[in-house]
Amino acid sequence: MTEDDAEGIPDQDPAERKMRFLFALRSRGVTDPRVLQAMERIDRGLFVRGQFADRAYEDTPLPIPCGQTISQPSVVGLMTQALAAGPRDTVLEVGTGSGYQAAILSGLCRRVYTVDRHRRLVQEAEAIFRDLGLYNITAQVADGSRGLPDQAPFDRILVTAAAEDPPGPLLAQLKIGGIMVVPVGQSDAVQTLIRVRRSETGFDYDELRQVRFVPLVEGLGQT
Ligand code: SAH
Repeated sequence: MTEDDAEGIPDQDPAERKMRFLFALRSRGVTDPRVLQAMERIDRGLFVRGQFADRAYEDTPLPIPCGQTISQPSVVGLMTQALAAGPRDTVLEVGTGSGYQAAILSGLCRRVYTVDRHRRLVQEAEAIFRDLGLYNITAQVADGSRGLPDQAPFDRILVTAAAEDPPGPLLAQLKIGGIMVVPVGQSDAVQTLIRVRRSETGFDYDELRQVRFVPLVEGLGQT
């Protein structure tokens, strides 16, 4: 065996790769066993194509088509954890992107609606959901800044693009007792991930951490 082989093997062995992936998640604060289990089941490698495919198991955001990005796995884990979705919940995700986040939510709740303003991204994600048999996900081309009025209200809403403020229509489509997780702030700067809980009397906000997401853009994309 050459030295190169010895170095190459651990990275290529799927079991070893998965162990490292989960270790990185835990060491960055993803500790909820349900979230870790859901993330263990979904292979991020299926959602990253082309020249970046070999970096799919690194804890880093990566480019996807339409100038968008698949989020960093530990950020996906922390957002999913903060959302605290239960098995009976209906969740709206704004920003399908690669479909990775929606696939993870699929294992944690009853139904996932995911929307993106780019048709190409929705179509590619749908094909992966079909291949994986994730039949509780409905993906749709829509401007998610308006929410999804036909399916509202939602137990949980997860926004994976940065808004200047939590969009009013999304707040309105959150059930009482519901939780929304959304990055807020200027699109080209560091943003703050916030959690909004809706009570009988109003909304409570707490700040979770600094993040960096692509912006929430109004209207539909060209592709
Ligand atoms: N959750 C994704 C990553 C999302 S990147 C994943 O797991 O891969 C952010 C996505 O939000 C992009 O795909 C972008 O097209 C989408 N987006 C931005 N503004 C939007 C809007 N108003 N409505 C719906 N999707 C939007």
